[in-house]
Amino acid sequence: MSEHKGTCFCGAVEVTVSGDPAGMGYCHCGSCRSWSAGPVNAFTLWQPSAVKITRGADNVASFAKTPTSKRTWCKTCGGHLLTEHPTMGLVDVYAATIPSFAFKPGIHVHYQETVLRVRDGLPKMKDMPKEMGGSGATLPE
Ligand SMILES: [Zn+2]
Ligand SMILES: [Zn+2]
Repeated sequence: MSEHKGTCFCGAVEVTVSGDPAGMGYCHCGSCRSWSAGPVNAFTLWQPSAVKITRGADNVASFAKTPTSKRTWCKTCGGHLLTEHPTMGLVDVYAATIPSFAFKPGIHVHYQETVLRVRDGLPKMKDMPKEMGGSGATLPE
């Protein structure tokens, strides 16, 4: 089984993912933007069992502004690690956290909130796909 390791900004916390993700893409929502300080969040979604904190687990802090997203970071450097999505039953390990993993985005979500239009030909969901509790509606690029 393939395994990829990544760390926070300072290296105190290490995350290991194994197997294949459930989905990959870009989130354009205002929460991801505010949290990441970037225009989009590149996400890779995993079953919780596929994600392990393999170093520095006691150095991880978290904050949940809403029940759908518990965002975690390293207490030493503030570097972001992952977001747990309990209602979806998945964990977003930011693509930037696991640089050796080949990021292959398939979708853009929450495109109605975008500040950075991306003309890459991938589907642009207004909010989320139907199977993930969204409207399933798409928007033009
Ligand atoms: Zn750190
Ligand atoms: Zn988002």
